Amino acid sequence: MDLYPTELKLVDDTAVLIGWNDGQQRRYLFSELRKACPCAACRHKTTGEAADPMKLTVLSPIELQPIKVEKMSLAGNYAYRITFSDGHNTGLFTFELLRELGAVVE
Ligand SMILES: [Zn+2]
Repeated sequence: MDLYPTELKLVDDTAVLIGWNDGQQRRYLFSELRKACPCAACRHKTTGEAADPMKLTVLSPIELQPIKVEKMSLAGNYAYRITFSDGHNTGLFTFELLRELGAVVE
């Protein structure tokens, strides 16, 4: 069965809920989505940084702000493009990826 979202709603200012066509509901923290961003730039960031351990402790001010999702729009019929409050919007969150993230709501 192809899985796709049937419902998308804001839980509060930290999380969003997606209902799926198999009846499952999953809750996603904005911070989790931001960390899981699958775009090339973000993936590079998480794998390419270990060389200088001092750099890991330096966070720019924007990274200290609680991250928010400003917009989620459908990209084709297989993914959401998410615009985050830090201006980042190049990540395409496929439905497949979204089913692996978040937590099931009972
Ligand atoms: Zn990204």
